[in-house]
Amino acid sequence: MLDLWFSESHADDTKFSIRVNEHLYTEKTPFQQIDFFKSETFGTFFTLDGYIMMTEKDEFIYHEMITHVPMAVNPNIKRVLIIGGGDGGTSREILRYNTISQVDMVEIDERVVRLCQKYLTQTSLKLDNDARLSIHFEDGKEFVKKTKNKTYDLILVDSTDPIGPGEGLFTNEFYKDCERILSDDGILINQHESPYYKEYCHEMKRAHNKIKDKFPIAMVYQFHMPTYASGHWLFGFASKKYHPLNDLHEDSWNALNLKTKYYNTNLHKGAFALPNYVIEELEKDG
Ligand code: SAM
Repeated sequence: MLDLWFSESHADDTKFSIRVNEHLYTEKTPFQQIDFFKSETFGTFFTLDGYIMMTEKDEFIYHEMITHVPMAVNPNIKRVLIIGGGDGGTSREILRYNTISQVDMVEIDERVVRLCQKYLTQTSLKLDNDARLSIHFEDGKEFVKKTKNKTYDLILVDSTDPIGPGEGLFTNEFYKDCERILSDDGILINQHESPYYKEYCHEMKRAHNKIKDKFPIAMVYQFHMPTYASGHWLFGFASKKYHPLNDLHEDSWNALNLKTKYYNTNLHKGAFALPNYVIEELEKDG
């Protein structure tokens, strides 16, 4: 029996491979190459331009950490903007809060949404059955540019890496517009790459340096993401008013009794305690 493996390069001389039972689907869209695979250990997973986006087995880690950290800091968040997030996992998780009144999801590639609705119902299930959610198939960079001041309380940038269509979501202009369209107590969470391999560390520093001069509070938190390069992955937490630890509403978040598999308020506090080498890298110019 011929073994079929999906491999992703994490560095020039380093690969991560998953043996696949089936290459379910492949398509080249005007924006990127989309592939869906089935595997024993990670279940169904999909890649964009050869990079793993999401697997059934570990998606909960990423989607819980991008949403519950800001929601445990500012319980008054009502209007949310998601940039990217085509698999629907971030929408699914944020819509668990009945205090949220409006979610705009801006995904550049409609094919990602339609294919995840077909092959990955685990994350895409809320995309067509929650009246609070509106999906806009356009470039997130253009969307924020034309959005009025103080429109949102929370922006979640659930983007690909800063290559291809994702590049525009790591620019000064984009972060400036995010700052402008956030309310006075607004929070920006962004996919902040990784400190471990050189290339990813470079992108982490570049993003951090652009964000920290636009927001009074700009911090980074970490989580374990087995299928991303090195497994050590980061989100950025930027805010006009709230500190992610000093303003954590631990008791009221726990009183919500939201069942989670990864996030809890102790882990929330620990996630911002970074290794020394990461602290040192973040202090350097990108
Ligand atoms: N969790 C994944 C990660 O960390 O790489 C990202 C999930 S989601 C699949 C990323 C989405 O961002 C993709 O569906 C992609 O089409 C979308 N995207 C990339 N560039 C974009 C842009 N400029 N505007 C809106 N969506 C964009």
